[in-house]
Amino acid sequence: MAESLHARYMAASDAWRAHRKDCEPCTFPDTGRHCPDGAPLWERLVRLQNAYLTHLRNH
Ligand SMILES: [Zn+2]
Repeated sequence: MAESLHARYMAASDAWRAHRKDCEPCTFPDTGRHCPDGAPLWERLVRLQNAYLTHLRNH
C-alpha cells in the first residue's frame, strides 16, 4: 500500500518536474498561475504529497 502511494507520488513528481523544466510560468509560479497543462500536474503532486506525508505521520 505504502509503496504504491509512494510510487504514485514519485511518478507525479517526475511528471511535474518534466513539465516544469520546459515551462516558464510553472517554473516561476510566484509571478502568476500555473499554465493549463501544468495546473493539474501540480494539483496531483500536492494531493499525493499530502497523502504520503499523512501516511508517514500515521505510521
Ligand atoms: Zn506549465
